[in-house]
Amino acid sequence: MSKLEKFIEEFRVDGDPRIGDRDTADTFGWERDEAESLFAEELRELVELQKKLFASKKRSLLVVLQAMDAAGKDSTIRAVMSGLNPAGVMVHPFGVPTDEEMGHDYLWRIHHHTPEDGYIAVFNRSHYEDVLVVRVKEFAPEKVWKKRYDHIRNFEQMLADEGTEIVKIFLNVSKEEQKERFEERLQRPDKNWKFRKGDLGDRALWDDFMDAYTDALETTSTDDAPWYVVPADKKWARNVVIARILRFHLERIDPEYPAPEAGLEDVVVE
Ligand code: AMP
Ligand code: MG
Repeated sequence: MSKLEKFIEEFRVDGDPRIGDRDTADTFGWERDEAESLFAEELRELVELQKKLFASKKRSLLVVLQAMDAAGKDSTIRAVMSGLNPAGVMVHPFGVPTDEEMGHDYLWRIHHHTPEDGYIAVFNRSHYEDVLVVRVKEFAPEKVWKKRYDHIRNFEQMLADEGTEIVKIFLNVSKEEQKERFEERLQRPDKNWKFRKGDLGDRALWDDFMDAYTDALETTSTDDAPWYVVPADKKWARNVVIARILRFHLERIDPEYPAPEAGLEDVVVE
C-alpha cells in the first residue's frame, strides 16, 4: 500500500462509519502554515492529473459532497478546485427538487449531470438527499426510501463499470462548529445570504441526520464508490485531506496524454 493510500485509508468507510466517534477537529499534527503549503503541493499534482484526464478523454471523476449546513461544501469546492482548468470541471448543486424533478424518479435529475469522459463533476448534495433529508423529514415513507440504498449502489456500480471513478465525501463538522458558523452568517452582512431560518430546523434534527448518514454511508460505501468521512472543523486541514483523496482517485485512473499522430517529427510549420 502506498503512503498516500495509507493516509487516506483511515477516512474511508468500511462498515460502521462511526461518525460520532471521530475527531471533527483533527489537524494531524500540522500547524496551519504547514498544512497550507502541503495543500499547495497537492493542488499542483491535481492540476497535472486533470490536464491528462481532460486530454485523454477516457474516464471521468465524480465527487459527491454531502454534509450538514455550514459544514463547508462550498468552501471545499472553492479551495480544492482552484487552479484546475474550469473547462473540465462541472459543479452541480442539488437543492429542493422542482415540480418537474418531483414528477420523476429521484435519480432522473442526477444521471443527467454525471460526468462525461475527460471531466470532473462535483455534486454539492446529491441523490443521497433522498435517503437523508427525505428520511429525516418524512418526505417519503420508509418503504419508499429503504429501497433506495439498493438502487443507489446499483446506479453507482453501473457508472463505475462504464468508466466513472467515484469518490464520496462526508464533511464531518461538529454541532458546536456549526453553531459558530451559523452565528457568523447571522452577524456578517456578506454572509447573511447563506443563512435560512429553515437551517435551524435541520440543526434541531441533528441526531436524526447523523443516524441517517450512518445508515447511508454504511450501506453504500463500496470498493468502486467509497465514502470518506473527513474532519471538517478546521478548513485548512480538511483541504489537505480532500486533495489527497482526490489525488489518490485520479492516480487510480492513471490518465495519460494521448499518443501523438504518427509522423509529427517531420511536420514543419511554414
Ligand atoms: P443548500 O445546499 O444550503 O443550498 O440547501 C439545499 C436544500 O435542498 C437543503 O436543505 C437540502 O436538504 C434540500 N434538498 C436537496 N435535495 C433534496 C431532496 N431530494 N428532497 C428534499 N430536499 C432536498
Ligand atoms: Mg444551506
